[in-house]
Amino acid sequence: MENIGIKEKEATSYQYVKKNYFEIASEKEVKEIYDYAEKYKNFITKCKTEREVNDFVSDIAFKNGFERYEFGDKLNIGDKRFICNRGKGVVLFKIGNNDIEKDGLRIIVSHLDSPRIDLKQVPLYESDGLCFLKTHYYGGIKKYQWTAIPLSLHGVIYTKNNDKVEICIGEKSSDPVFYINDLLPHLGKAQMEQKAESFITGEQLNIVVGGKALKEGSSKDKIKENILKILNKDYKITEEDFISAELSVVPAFQARDVGFDRSLIGAYGHDDKVCAYAAFNAIFDCQNKNTAICILVDKEEIGSEGVTGIKSKIYEDVIDEICLSLNKNVRKVRQKSLCISADVTAAYDSNFADVFEKNNAAILSCGVCMNKYTGGAGKSDSSDASAELVQKIRNIFSKNNVIWQTSELGKVDIGSGGTVAKFITQLNIETVDIGVPVISMHAPYELISKADLFSAYKGYKAFFE
Ligand code: MN
Ligand code: MN
Repeated sequence: MENIGIKEKEATSYQYVKKNYFEIASEKEVKEIYDYAEKYKNFITKCKTEREVNDFVSDIAFKNGFERYEFGDKLNIGDKRFICNRGKGVVLFKIGNNDIEKDGLRIIVSHLDSPRIDLKQVPLYESDGLCFLKTHYYGGIKKYQWTAIPLSLHGVIYTKNNDKVEICIGEKSSDPVFYINDLLPHLGKAQMEQKAESFITGEQLNIVVGGKALKEGSSKDKIKENILKILNKDYKITEEDFISAELSVVPAFQARDVGFDRSLIGAYGHDDKVCAYAAFNAIFDCQNKNTAICILVDKEEIGSEGVTGIKSKIYEDVIDEICLSLNKNVRKVRQKSLCISADVTAAYDSNFADVFEKNNAAILSCGVCMNKYTGGAGKSDSSDASAELVQKIRNIFSKNNVIWQTSELGKVDIGSGGTVAKFITQLNIETVDIGVPVISMHAPYELISKADLFSAYKGYKAFFE
């Protein structure tokens, strides 16, 4: 009997089995996981837009000894520098001792923008007892999820006099919040029979901003007139200034522990601020011989376009300038470089088991997750990382005791999803997706595991080192 037992034990050791990180972590490490989550909750509650993360990261970059970089600056081994991209993204880099022509660069890219609801440029109108703001949603949202919840308003307005007004209303408990109406069930029979996609339409995502009519004046829209009066008093803006504004409506929720065991975190914008957070902390904390670059981009949720998206040439320019400054051949350097596209992936959800193939799904708390490929039917639109790159990452993670797992987004032919990976590979840089599994991705309140967050931080740090 004893022999059979040993044989069975040996046999199971050949199997690939995912394990819950909490189950195998030491008590000390479990404490580290929970402590790390507290810092992240503070960050994700404060930073809800790419501009807010940009400012947060710039601030702590200075505290971590990073100096601002301008194109043309001479760079030397040991330099720690960062450059902001128009206030909506940051590139941080550390120049290491290793020869970058031989060892390449170690790059991690994540995105700071999250699905949300943006204001139109002529947003304000009054209708039958209420004043609203017209919107155009940003990124892939299920519109019905954004009704009947407290919302906050974030962004910037540039006035006629060239003043920049920064807006953040709805985050302090003393602030007012904003709201999108939904229909009462009593009158919702016809609505409930429609497809979920259309029972709240894009043009119905109007934000309630007031209902108090002005006493004086002859305007026919006295509620609107009163709102404009308040905005002029508090922010020195007029209605026309909305044209040169970028204002976003996001959930007014704070990040909270979820569950009796407090192992999970609920928050708005885990996608992709959770990977961004792990990535910028990894570059601050890593002891690197390699030259490490952490790229935090905007516009991923709408296709990575624009000067602040990953398709912008600025990121290539930074790599070029590093090579030029160190007198290295940029083509050789890029060919040897490795990149992690640090973006979230879908966590397996037994409530929606139909869309997942369990053997190849990310299980919550089993660690940061590698997606060799993303894309849709027939792997289309995926950069599909090579087995060689996957093996390199396996080695790095196993040497550094990083708990990690592998997955693909869902069942074959069920849907699709993409990341910035395919754009980075266009530079001849090998790239693979590695990020935190998320439940209810793109919802106003998303769920992650504290274990996966910490494992992402450990994994990214090991990769840089
Ligand atoms: Mn993402
Ligand atoms: Mn997304």
